[in-house]
Amino acid sequence: MSATPSVGSVIVVGVGIMGLSLAWALSRRGVKVTLFDQGPIPNPMSSSLDEHRINRHAYGKLNGYARMMPQAFRAWDALWADLGRSHYEETGGIYVLRHEDAWYDNTVAQLAEMGISCKDLGAAEVVRRLPVLNEQGISRAVEVGGSGLLFPRRIMTDLIVHLNLLGVEFQAHTPVTDVDPDRATVTTSRGVFGADRVIVAAGPWIGRLVPGLDGVAVPSRQAVLYLAPPPEHLRVWMSAPVVVVRDVEAGLYCLPPRRGTRLKIGDHRFSLTGDPDEDRIATADDIAPIWAGMKKAYRDVESYSIIEPRACFYTVTDDETFRVVQPGANGFAVSACSGHGFKLAPLVASGIAAAALGEQPVERIAPWAAGKAEPSLPLF
Ligand SMILES: Cc1cc2nc3c(=O)[nH]c(=O)nc-3n(C[C@H](O)[C@H](O)[C@H](O)COP(=O)(O)OP(=O)(O)OC[C@H]3O[C@@H](n4cnc5c(N)ncnc54)[C@H](O)[C@@H]3O)c2cc1C
Repeated sequence: MSATPSVGSVIVVGVGIMGLSLAWALSRRGVKVTLFDQGPIPNPMSSSLDEHRINRHAYGKLNGYARMMPQAFRAWDALWADLGRSHYEETGGIYVLRHEDAWYDNTVAQLAEMGISCKDLGAAEVVRRLPVLNEQGISRAVEVGGSGLLFPRRIMTDLIVHLNLLGVEFQAHTPVTDVDPDRATVTTSRGVFGADRVIVAAGPWIGRLVPGLDGVAVPSRQAVLYLAPPPEHLRVWMSAPVVVVRDVEAGLYCLPPRRGTRLKIGDHRFSLTGDPDEDRIATADDIAPIWAGMKKAYRDVESYSIIEPRACFYTVTDDETFRVVQPGANGFAVSACSGHGFKLAPLVASGIAAAALGEQPVERIAPWAAGKAEPSLPLF
């Protein structure tokens, strides 16, 4: 593929998974890319840099995103081909319901539509398979395919090396203080830089650079706990799938240890508070709701050690969808939202790259990235 003649260079602000995926999508089309980050690259303060992230077809009420997932998986496959190795491990998933809601029925219908396996398990059967679970209070359990773990630290460092080879330029420790989306320039502490296009992918900080997203893409402080369980539980966890437990007070997701990662648990409910400049250490108040949810959902929780209580940031929109905007003739911005921005990044970035290069109108890309249009574009 070759670039549209008028777009030879693009500046991307923010080097999380979205910024890196944009650089990948653009540089494989022959465009010269310069990446700016306010911190090191990759940045431990970013939403993206962590040990693992879930990739899955199951999507609850967000039907539009469920329909995008087959192409999102193909986008990852294209990335693995370019990197020369895969950083995805299929584990399957188990969803445990401890209260009645429509999430399961929606998900079951979506998976059937996509031809992904999905099987109801009784409470006794799910606990037989996963003896770390507490059987009391389980009303339904579903085992699904098409799910597994992405390994962000490996993905991001491999992408950085790959992009470096392709000639992408990195400007680390260079906060961007202003973006001109008409001129495609950015102002930094080291001067003003320009290109043919500028794309802002600044994660939870995005509202500071793109006024139209201020108050729309809201930073949300979320806690995760890295855990050391007792050895008999650890043996179960080491071959466990991704486990999601939904209760009235909590939406706990548990990621098992794989490929050098630790056991991690988090709560998907949004805090909708916090400043992304804060440190990343979870407080007792951050931890309490997760611990309370764990005690209901899992056995022997008091014998698990919390080895790292960590705070991180989601960027949340009111309907949990991505926002793609064009604030000026030559400038774009994307907010990869809520708890699902990692899995969709290579796909959505490819759509935004197509818009920035004039191959697709932004009016088509924005609703598509929001999961509100045709699920599949001619990208992968
Ligand atoms: C605890 C947790 C669990 C999650 N689980 C999942 C999951 O299982 N599956 C999934 O798909 N998604 C998940 N997500 C969501 C996903 O990780 C995010 O949506 C995604 O990583 C966002 O990427 P991003 O590149 O948009 O933002 P970020 O990764 O935050 O990157 C933005 C970058 O912009 C830089 N920046 C900001 N302002 C400036 C500036 N002025 N100048 C220069 N640089 C700047 C920042 O330093 C940062 O490096 C989870 C998120 C969290 C926090």
